[in-house]
Amino acid sequence: MSTFGRVLIIGSGLGGLTLAQSLRRSGIDVAVFERDASPWERPQGYRLHLDTDAINAAREVLPSHLIALFEATSQFTEPFTTILTTDLSVVKRLPTHDEHGNVWPDRENSLHANVDRATLRQILMSGLDDVVHFGKKLEHYEDTSDGVTAYFSDGTTAHGDVLVGADGIRSAVRAQRAPHLTTVDAGITAIYGRLPLNAAQPRVPSETLNDIFAIASDDRKVFLGLGSVQFPTAPAQAAADCSPGTAMRDQDDYVVCIVGGRHQFFPNTDNLSGEQLRDIAARTVADWPDQAADLIRQGDAEAFFPVHMYSSVPGTLDAPTNVTLLGDAVHAMTPTLGRGANLAMRDAALLGRALRTVAAGNSKLDIALSHYERDMTAYGFSVVREAAQIGEQRMAQNRLPA
Ligand SMILES: Cc1cc2nc3c(=O)[nH]c(=O)nc-3n(C[C@H](O)[C@H](O)[C@H](O)COP(=O)(O)OP(=O)(O)OC[C@H]3O[C@@H](n4cnc5c(N)ncnc54)[C@H](O)[C@@H]3O)c2cc1C
Repeated sequence: MSTFGRVLIIGSGLGGLTLAQSLRRSGIDVAVFERDASPWERPQGYRLHLDTDAINAAREVLPSHLIALFEATSQFTEPFTTILTTDLSVVKRLPTHDEHGNVWPDRENSLHANVDRATLRQILMSGLDDVVHFGKKLEHYEDTSDGVTAYFSDGTTAHGDVLVGADGIRSAVRAQRAPHLTTVDAGITAIYGRLPLNAAQPRVPSETLNDIFAIASDDRKVFLGLGSVQFPTAPAQAAADCSPGTAMRDQDDYVVCIVGGRHQFFPNTDNLSGEQLRDIAARTVADWPDQAADLIRQGDAEAFFPVHMYSSVPGTLDAPTNVTLLGDAVHAMTPTLGRGANLAMRDAALLGRALRTVAAGNSKLDIALSHYERDMTAYGFSVVREAAQIGEQRMAQNRLPA
């Protein structure tokens, strides 16, 4: 165990957990504080597209038995997005652009996988039972002469040398560390659901199930997005094979479906049942050939929920303190590129490396954090801008403020 002090991470999303795994691997004392009462309290979404960043971050921070579990439950895909007509036939397959700087020079550099978000989160949480504390909502923090103290809504506190805000788009840490950094409404609502793979298979071209994602849209820029999750090995079996003792909730193969567009096409999505939302999603594409609505109606009724999209407004971080940020807490973006989780995991791997150099006595904390924050904000906000531009073209997302 190193003599470096304790790191407090606020938020147990994909970024916070990746950092916790990295620090644990380096022997650095770490504690994670999550506002939810349990990992299952809220629906967190379904399929995620992982690229070189997230896949290499997982390979860098996880112990070998969890890497094996991660690979056994990831559907490695062809590097294309399929463009569909509104009758769900293929127009073309667009190659996916890769940008990973020099983060992974020694690793594979063009990787794509579709994974189940809950499965990935369970893998990232494995072995951290003594580290992750649920029911701990951060209210605020205070810099002290010997570090930083976090104050939680249940009246408890925690003290550490460094505090990391990995607390998502409405970050309480960002509100204090960088109150000038804001988020804006992207103007887009989406209804998010899923259907069993065997219900989708006869209704969509095979590319839809093998590529990263497939998308059809109309003149209103209303879109239907589809992406499959086909586990090479079912999660519970994969855990038994690769990491006995790791508890995994089982899942069947499925296809995620997202119907979205400007808010005006979805005037009422709050406080509705999944079945009502599925019905709205199908009615939104009622002018299309029947295939799209028919596909949506195959969805699991209880699985549909609404998402209102927001984006960070790019900016800068002030000089480093012993409080820093990662992932959506600093550079949230609309999901047009499928890169938010990838960048959160890239940030976590880089921040883990930076803190390791401090723990080893090879760098001072302020210098290590200033390099991390310079790089993270440069690539993070560049992808926020790119996601907004593509979002404007494809789904009429609001333009970011200049
Ligand atoms: C519909 C949709 C589809 C997407 N698809 C993709 C995709 O395919 N690929 C991709 O890379 N990205 C995708 N994203 C983006 C991705 O989900 C996010 O970028 C990613 O989850 C960010 O991870 P994070 O760890 O920074 O934050 P989060 O995952 O948001 O985690 C933040 C955590 O902090 C906790 N928290 C919040 N406030 C507090 C507090 N005050 N105290 C304590 N805990 C707190 C939260 O409960 C949560 O657990 C998608 C997003 C959406 C909405």
